[in-house]
Parts: sequence; C-alpha cells; structure tokens
Amino acid sequence: MDCPLCRIDERKEKIHLITRDIMILDTKTMKGHKGRVMCLYRKHTKKLSPATRKRVMEEFRRFCITYFFSYTDSFSIHRDEFSTIPGHWHVVASDLDKKAEDYRQILKTPRTEYRLRIKDVEVR
Ligand SMILES: [Zn+2]
Repeated sequence: MDCPLCRIDERKEKIHLITRDIMILDTKTMKGHKGRVMCLYRKHTKKLSPATRKRVMEEFRRFCITYFFSYTDSFSIHRDEFSTIPGHWHVVASDLDKKAEDYRQILKTPRTEYRLRIKDVEVR
C-alpha cells in the first residue's frame, strides 16, 4: 500500500510530539493561524475504538492546553468528519484568530472550543 502518512519523512515535517500511537505535527497549510496542528493516529486506520479515541483525545487536549496554545487564550479542536485526508484517523486544532482565512469555516465546523484564561473580575 502506498500511503504517505504511513511513511512520513520525520525530517521534513514539523513534528511536536510522537508517542507509540500518535504523532502531533503542523498542518501543511497554516491558513493564517499562528498555530494549527494535527493529531494523527499512526496506524493505518480511520476507525478507533471508543476507549482508544478517548485516550488519544485526552493526550491531544493536554498537549494543546499545557503547551501548544499557551500563546493565546482560546483554541478549538475540530471534528474530522469532513476531512479529505485518507487512511488515518486525525483531528485538527487551531487558535481562534478572527483574521485567519478559515475563521468563517471554523464557525461552521463541529468543534470543541477551549477558553484558557478567564478575565479577572474585580470584586468590591
Ligand atoms: Zn497509512
């Protein structure tokens, strides 16, 4: 089988994290975001068991919250249903920069938004 994702050239990609079963790397196009990353399941399959999906999402969320999106105050993880990438389960996360070229499309995509910092409230 000739699948480019099964044999990613690790020197050519901007890879942030590799574990036994996932790889987190920059997406090919940044679409005007400072941060746009993909969490890719390394094994050639589109289907994950609910338990595996839960564990993988947990790992990806932790990476996004504690490390990757620390430069901003919100980001979202987009559902993969409309993806064009064949062969591998994956999800994409990006910051919610209103000036990004896909911001309108993001608003139409099923997603989970994360607010990392809540404004301090003054109490008198
Ligand atoms: Zn593959």
